[in-house]
Amino acid sequence: MKDVERVADDLYFVKQPMRVGWFCGVCVVLGTGNIGLIDTGFENTPNDYIFPLIHELGRRLEDIDYVVNTHRDGDHVLGNPVIKEKTRAPVAIHVLETEAVPTADSVLNDGDVVTLGDRQFEVIHTPGHRPGSICLYDHANKTLITGDSVCGDRTDLIRMDKALYIASLKKLLNLDVNVLVMSHPFKPFGKSILTGNEAHEMIQASIDIAEKLE
Ligand SMILES: [Zn+2]
Repeated sequence: MKDVERVADDLYFVKQPMRVGWFCGVCVVLGTGNIGLIDTGFENTPNDYIFPLIHELGRRLEDIDYVVNTHRDGDHVLGNPVIKEKTRAPVAIHVLETEAVPTADSVLNDGDVVTLGDRQFEVIHTPGHRPGSICLYDHANKTLITGDSVCGDRTDLIRMDKALYIASLKKLLNLDVNVLVMSHPFKPFGKSILTGNEAHEMIQASIDIAEKLE
């Protein structure tokens, strides 16, 4: 399917185009009887991109039972109302983002464990882009979903103190990561899904770039 990348048998990455060469991604985690989403894109993203994929995979929209937003920005949360209307899945977001995202229903904190599909993800609080930015780490599959927390050369996205951003990324360096999924195709790699050594290299490159900033 166009605009979809299969990351694993149970993990799909849906790309909502934004401008030429740029998109924002939604992760669809397929469980045996349930489906989890990480972010929801813009208002149109569920109907235009997420729901067609779920139907194509032979699944039902009602299987969507949980949504996690990585942070407050519109390209990550504006699809929330559509998902909630069609599925009644609750939406969770970090406690520091709730005021900015009234469509969220429940609150996450660092260290919480969430179930998306048949996977368990640990919530890792990684402020720097936004106060309540989080990453989701699946220990069993060594898979890290970072939203906009690792943003490579897009230093304009470091909206908070640079030291806070770097400290967040250093936490991620300690994880054993085989698959890294970012919401946008950040440089230096210019793609969203990195595997093997590239995952660690992307995090380190983002630290190096930030450290050189005035
Ligand atoms: Zn963002």
